[in-house]
Amino acid sequence: MEKITCNIDSYFLESSSYKKAGRHNRPDGTVLNVSGVKIGGKGFVMMAGPCAVESEQQLLSTAKAVHEKGANILRGGAFKPRSSPYSFQGLEEDGLKLLEEARVKYGIPVITEVMDTRQVEMVCKYADILQIGSRNMQNFPLLKEVGQCRKPVMLKRGMNATLDELLLASEYILNGGNEEVMLCERGIRSFETSYRNTMDLNAVPMLKQLTHLPVIVDPSHGTGHAWMVPHLAKAAMAVGADGLLIEVHSDPQQALCDGPQSLTIEQFGSLMIELKALSKAVGRNLIVTETSII
Ligand code: PEP
Ligand code: MN
Repeated sequence: MEKITCNIDSYFLESSSYKKAGRHNRPDGTVLNVSGVKIGGKGFVMMAGPCAVESEQQLLSTAKAVHEKGANILRGGAFKPRSSPYSFQGLEEDGLKLLEEARVKYGIPVITEVMDTRQVEMVCKYADILQIGSRNMQNFPLLKEVGQCRKPVMLKRGMNATLDELLLASEYILNGGNEEVMLCERGIRSFETSYRNTMDLNAVPMLKQLTHLPVIVDPSHGTGHAWMVPHLAKAAMAVGADGLLIEVHSDPQQALCDGPQSLTIEQFGSLMIELKALSKAVGRNLIVTETSII
């Protein structure tokens, strides 16, 4: 076996350490095509929706609203990794069916989390993008399994993971033959307790330097506070991210999961308008749906 060296003891990571994810393989960067939505390149993609799929009414009303406001991809968890076994765990296959209903109704691709190798086949049937959550970034059997799929995968950075570990985790998927991988910075654990995680925006330019894979930022989990989300969302665009993953709920106070960090529909609409203005200044093309009101 060829030895892959990683400079984990120094501040100097090199693209060449990452056999398939390394930037040297594709200096111009990868552009993924998810059911017609391009991720990477000059475009800037918006993925939005509730943390968890809760009901038909909740999902469809949120899907309609975020779609109208320009989001190109609908998010929603059907399998939820909760700290407590007594918290809402997700609607599982019923939730996936609701995501499919939203996709068909609004023509919007969906991203949803897969937590276990035993769920991969089922989630593939419904999802346009498979999400590997922070807690599973180094679940190597799961990474190998999604490496066998022919579905785009968004790999979220583990809350305690270095960028070297994130990139090596992506190699597991790429090495299986699945070339459609994007990375997601979602904040890391630090000594700071006033927000849920520390939004490591350093990661964006560093990852863009090291890898050709698109980089998405999730300021919802990165901050844990809805009021902070627009600030970090704009910062993420300015620092070179390829898109955002934003939690939006029609009634955050009643949300079964992550209400405090979820934007209302109105707040999401305002953010879209601000991002549109910023995109012109930073030379990005905010991709919006054809029916978008912005
Ligand atoms: C999520 O996106 O709902 C989620 C659980 O994210 P993370 O894995 O980053 O905590
Ligand atoms: Mn969440």
